Amino acid sequence: MTSSSSKTNLLGFSKAKMEAFLESIGEKKFRAIQIVKWIHQQGAEDFEVMTNLSKDLRAKLSEVAEICEPEVVYQDYSEDGTRKWAIRVEGGSLVETVLIPEGDRATLCVSSQVGCSLDCSFCSTGKQGFNRNLSAAEVIGQLRVAIKSFGPIDPKAPRRVTNVVMMGMGEPLMNFDAVVDAMSLMMEDNAYGLSKRRVTLSTAGLVPAIDRLGELTDVSLALSLHAPNDPLRDELVPLNKRYPIAEVKAACKRYLSRLNDKRVITIEYTMIDGVNDQPDQARELVRLLKDLPCKLNLIPFNPFPNSGYRRSKRQAIDYFKEITSRSGIVTTIRTTRGDDIDAACGQLVGQVDDRTRRSQKYIPVVQQSESE
Ligand code: SAH
Repeated sequence: MTSSSSKTNLLGFSKAKMEAFLESIGEKKFRAIQIVKWIHQQGAEDFEVMTNLSKDLRAKLSEVAEICEPEVVYQDYSEDGTRKWAIRVEGGSLVETVLIPEGDRATLCVSSQVGCSLDCSFCSTGKQGFNRNLSAAEVIGQLRVAIKSFGPIDPKAPRRVTNVVMMGMGEPLMNFDAVVDAMSLMMEDNAYGLSKRRVTLSTAGLVPAIDRLGELTDVSLALSLHAPNDPLRDELVPLNKRYPIAEVKAACKRYLSRLNDKRVITIEYTMIDGVNDQPDQARELVRLLKDLPCKLNLIPFNPFPNSGYRRSKRQAIDYFKEITSRSGIVTTIRTTRGDDIDAACGQLVGQVDDRTRRSQKYIPVVQQSESE
């Protein structure tokens, strides 16, 4: 963000927040829809262009408010069509956003935090430590940057981004309010109008927040499981010690029962050589998941320096998939995309001014771009 003023940044305001803001400055709340449309459907960067608002209102808004976009520090376009942006957020840290086109879909992988506090043993974001939560403007700003990379926003053009997954840097449920606000803009008809089926929040399993999420929204849910039992998951996802598998599974079921449709939980399972990729573990996983409506997404581990892990062999992944599929679990293997630009899962590292000092235990893995 390039804001230096004390003005209110309206970029991350959901429709409800925009209404409240307008009322707080003595204006009619029905203007909220007009302003949301200008900002998100027309790509407005200031109030002058908002010609269906009176001159007086535009002048008043310019005095107290602004539309402040994230600053793109570098962009990288992969040979396979993947695009990655590094975005500078207030305080100087960088976060990363990745767009992955596939046929007539294009999925944007959005970051929610600068770094991550969960410290999953196989994730390079975690090794960077944690700095802070992103604001709603910084979260929705990533979608805006991706859409604008195709040229000026044109509401009549086909969608450039069809799906959003909150699977970038950070644990989205640890940044609850900002992420919920940003997702509501993603799904808002007057903003980006994405279907609730095409907005997915991925979590390592923060049980109370999964329940709260179900009360407020109906996005699709993905769970980063990675292990078929508690002892192994304790090792890979330390949050499991606080919220063990049975509790997380129960929360997922509660979430699904609120949705009241045919959606299922996406189970993410990063395949790590000799750690969680054995046939017995596949069978154990099948037993674990048999009473949870879900589909399984196997993610070949993406290596990073000093991780201490290796990617599972293709044969092991295929055999694992055969076991789970044969038992009736719809299983896909995530194709590794964008790894020539370090944009694959777990390779998003940004540049985190680590407040936890955790990163000092590791050799830095930040990739500096030439343009910096
Ligand atoms: N904190 C959230 C979202 C961020 S990570 C969560 O845990 O779900 C998005 C997905 O990539 C998660 O499933 C994560 O476990 C996985 N991932 C992390 N590091 C990885 C790596 N090095 N290789 C492959 N997948 C990885």
